[in-house]
Amino acid sequence: MIVLVGFMGAGKTTVGRILARRLGVPFRDSDVVIEQRAGRPIRQIFAEEGEPAFRDLEHKVIADLLDGTDSVLALGGGAVQRADTRDLLKDVPVAYLRISYAEAMRRVGGDQGRPMLVRPDVAQLHAERDLVYAEAATVTVDAGTSPPEAIARDILTLLADAEA
Ligand code: ADP
Ligand code: MG
Repeated sequence: MIVLVGFMGAGKTTVGRILARRLGVPFRDSDVVIEQRAGRPIRQIFAEEGEPAFRDLEHKVIADLLDGTDSVLALGGGAVQRADTRDLLKDVPVAYLRISYAEAMRRVGGDQGRPMLVRPDVAQLHAERDLVYAEAATVTVDAGTSPPEAIARDILTLLADAEA
């Protein structure tokens, strides 16, 4: 199991698929599983039920995924905000894909499916989460300046070092 965390646009999906292929395990994305379970897009869950209800559902989905088959698991950008969700990750290798706020906006600035983008304090959110991601992570990689394949390789190297 490898868990990927990081701000929207960090490349969790892109790099996660590469890692999963290399390791021969499925790639899972907590946001996708939440949408499947809820039968609605995340944006609609946020609008209809609010963020706390979404975070509850997210917590349950992540717990189930960590309990299930081995995978590379990308978490939603806000998943580690909650302490009880961070606790789920205590004994799991977690890679933080770190990118600057400017790079995140370049990558996903126009994506309507990302509910956090509408927040007026999204820059502040990025700064706060940087600390939380680093805290939750076993290893941190620069995910803003090299191609996804190189980032995947960095993660495997750093995690192997961390385990040794
Ligand atoms: P996340 O799942 O973390 O939100 P994505 O994997 O969906 O991020 O990537 C967001 C966008 O950035 C996509 O258009 C993707 O192609 C692009 N991207 C991801 N990683 C890189 C990278 N290392 N270099 C350049 N573009 C990237
Ligand atoms: Mg993604």
